[in-house]
Amino acid sequence: MSQIGDAAITPQKLFPELIPREAHNMRNSDLSPNTLKVLQHLITKGYKAYAVGGCIRDKLMGSKPKDFDVVTNATPDQIKECFRNCRLIGRRFRLAHITFGREIIEVATFRGHHDAEPATQASTPEEPTNNKPNPRSKRKIDDGVLAKKNEAGQLLRDNIFGSIEEDAARRDFTFNAMYFDVSDESILDFAKGLDSISSRTIVMIGDSAIRFREDPVRMIRAIRFACKLNMRLPDVLSLSIQKHAYLLANIPPARLFEEVSKLLLSGTGEATFVSLLKHNLLSQLFPLLAALLKDDSSKEYQFICNMLRNTDKRINNDQRITPAFLYAAFLWYPMEERAQELMFDSTMPLHDAINLASAEILQQQSRRIMIPKRFSTPVREIWALQLRLQRRQGKRCLQLLTHPKFRAAYDFLLLRASVEGGNLLELANWWTNIQEVSSNQQTKMVNELPNKSPRKRPKRKPKK
Ligand code: ATP
Ligand code: MG
Repeated sequence: MSQIGDAAITPQKLFPELIPREAHNMRNSDLSPNTLKVLQHLITKGYKAYAVGGCIRDKLMGSKPKDFDVVTNATPDQIKECFRNCRLIGRRFRLAHITFGREIIEVATFRGHHDAEPATQASTPEEPTNNKPNPRSKRKIDDGVLAKKNEAGQLLRDNIFGSIEEDAARRDFTFNAMYFDVSDESILDFAKGLDSISSRTIVMIGDSAIRFREDPVRMIRAIRFACKLNMRLPDVLSLSIQKHAYLLANIPPARLFEEVSKLLLSGTGEATFVSLLKHNLLSQLFPLLAALLKDDSSKEYQFICNMLRNTDKRINNDQRITPAFLYAAFLWYPMEERAQELMFDSTMPLHDAINLASAEILQQQSRRIMIPKRFSTPVREIWALQLRLQRRQGKRCLQLLTHPKFRAAYDFLLLRASVEGGNLLELANWWTNIQEVSSNQQTKMVNELPNKSPRKRPKRKPKK
């Protein structure tokens, strides 16, 4: 029998335990109607198809599934033949996206073992017969390479197709290797995922050193599931993450944005942040911030915890959140420090220093996590508005109240005030009050301000 957990080998294949519908509470009605449609259509066409991953895990753990992953023995090309609204995406991991209005159903083909099929150039594509798909069918992808590893063992390309037993062995944690069959509402549990759920313990499939080397993102996923699902991360796994954290440097920045957003916007962001620090992952993901976190009483640490606590509350109350606010906070103090350096090293005015520092810091961070422009632009706006909120002299400052980013910038100011106090608290209170009074009173509040411009050159911090 294959060993699960930190065994010496990664199992090549796993064999399932069938859990009949009477023994669990997952039903077809828990799937989105479009997911159900896709699964039933693939089955009608003679393929095997299952819902897999997070949706089953979440349902069995008592929460409502939100994200539905479909897996099948149909190859990407065969999937495309079944659906008019289908697009093939991904180079590292080839997938089909089936679109229904705003909903996209992601359909993957069972993955096989790299060792079983050495990384080769694709041979002539085989033409599958309609009802008997050949799971090992190959199709040229750009340069034709189906599978690729680097010297560290990291999978750079993962397009070798296989059987469901192989596919299960390739999944990360045991609770993610459960397959739901819509034809009889049964579950195939390949790696005792149900045990992991009932003991609320994260169990890796295979040896964590190999699995983290193959894909270092699995370390982030382990932390995310432990925090989000309130599960125990066994010591061996926790130590293995600390040891392999450096491997995250090999992950392309574009891949990390989605993963990190999911990680910190899961509703348990504060606990996740603490765990990332403990596991040496924060310095990999946010090196500029990590360098400033001296201890948990530092203002930088408190600032991030306060922000994540508020964000968690908003997520759990179904309020809107944006990754821009999160990145603005994670990079605020690095940006402020850089702006101060620029002001003192050259004779740059504060406004220009903030502008330049903002660009530099976002660019540096993008070497680790690629922040898409639709988020980095609002980050810069939130930062630039901090300065404008400080300059209250003159009636023009009232125009800020109608600025599209006023709310985010004001919330950001409140957050800064909550850790820095002093003048910032007075400033934040003033902006709170001005939103609550009539326009006549607003003018009066502006006129009553002492007539002095803000200090342009803050005292330089002593060099560490
Ligand atoms: P959620 O969607 O709630 O974030 P999930 O487990 O469904 O969680 P996905 O990213 O949607 O996460 O992945 C779907 C499934 O694909 C996972 O359950 C797991 O079986 C597999 N998987 C995803 N990422 C990896 C990985 N890096 N290594 C191995 N298996 C993975
Ligand atoms: Mg999912």
